[in-house]
Amino acid sequence: MKGLRCRECGRDFPAKALFVCEYCFGSLEVDYDYEAMHGKLTRAAIEKRPANIWRYRELLPIDGDPTVGFHTGMTPLFRAERLGKALGVKELYIKDDSVCHPTLSFKDRVVSVALSRAKELGFDTAACASTGNLGNSVASLSAKAGMKRVIFIPADLEMGKVVGSLIYAPNLVAVEGNYDEVNRLCAEIAGRYHWAFVNINIRPYYAEGSKTYGFEIAEQMGWTTPKHIVVPAASGSLLVKIWKGFKELHKLGLISKPESRLYAAQPDGCSPIVTAVNSGVDVIKPVKPKTIAKSLAIGNPADGYYATDAIRETQGGAASVTDAEIVDAMKLLAQTEGIFTETAGGVTVAAAKKLIEEKKIPRDESIVICITGQGLKTQEAVMDHIGKPIKIRPTLESFETEVASKTNL
Ligand SMILES: *Cc1c(COP(=O)(O)O)cnc(C)c1O
Ligand SMILES: [Zn+2]
Repeated sequence: MKGLRCRECGRDFPAKALFVCEYCFGSLEVDYDYEAMHGKLTRAAIEKRPANIWRYRELLPIDGDPTVGFHTGMTPLFRAERLGKALGVKELYIKDDSVCHPTLSFKDRVVSVALSRAKELGFDTAACASTGNLGNSVASLSAKAGMKRVIFIPADLEMGKVVGSLIYAPNLVAVEGNYDEVNRLCAEIAGRYHWAFVNINIRPYYAEGSKTYGFEIAEQMGWTTPKHIVVPAASGSLLVKIWKGFKELHKLGLISKPESRLYAAQPDGCSPIVTAVNSGVDVIKPVKPKTIAKSLAIGNPADGYYATDAIRETQGGAASVTDAEIVDAMKLLAQTEGIFTETAGGVTVAAAKKLIEEKKIPRDESIVICITGQGLKTQEAVMDHIGKPIKIRPTLESFETEVASKTNL
């Protein structure tokens, strides 16, 4: 890591807890010495390392040894034959972070990087504004890192996400407002308290963790990149960083020039990025979220502009879907591939289906669908749409009258 660089004016800054350019208010991004790495960081060297996000450590923003994340990442990427058949496409893959360690979403990647860097910068308290998964991850990994923890969430989150934070005994603050209001409050608090807000003052480091999702896709596909990638978008950061990750691997000579097209998936009830892409404008118009996909309910996305930029650069696209389509897609993924994803995963599968039907993604080229979270955390969303267990008495007769005679077993 060389330092931080302004994404707008290109000015350089030291690698401290900074996130906006003091000259132009552009956001800061981590810059690396790629020349020093070229030829030294090889495929063989990476492949020999333990199967976690730190196998790409030269491309992650820490100076010394990581603190947490030794079991995070290297989640399954596999051919999804049955879902592919249902969607009518030839070569479909799923990258499955519904089983990411330790809190079952891709947020463990970003938080492992953020907390490792926060420790290096001397912070003893981790904090975040969260739509749920980030809170779970900060709560868990700061416990592991031995840091104090403060988590801010919108008051109406799913029970699974609330319990999934409380078990780690953080200071959990439920704010009566939506995520954008929580985040605005946290920006004020971050100015007053010396805490590592992973998605605010540590954001440049945090965001780099998402590159590992892209690095793994390339490595797991035999150091190639797929033609199409459908990515769920909240702040838009994951999408931007998958693309940055591919470009870095190319810069280091580890893959050939990536020709992937990136597609953003959002719920109809919160689709500022999709709206910007599909209406051909650069400016993201903030919205007031109303959707069951609460982890994607960011109405004013911090990286929205950069996400639309990456989508345009790669000639990708975007699609939004209804709450009913989200539920149907969660069921489809479960019943074809055996994966229970959360609402965000339903958004991604449903958006992929729509993009294929609209012929924006051709049926005969390789496609990766990004599954980023776990269904057990958002049970409310599907509870009333999946039937009920059949109740019987503990007798063979009851089984035969209530089950065997009524089903097609
Ligand atoms: C946070 C989150 C996203 C979106 O992440 P961004 O980088 O903010 O766009 C996608 N899926 C899940 C499950 C998430 O928790
Ligand atoms: Zn600047």
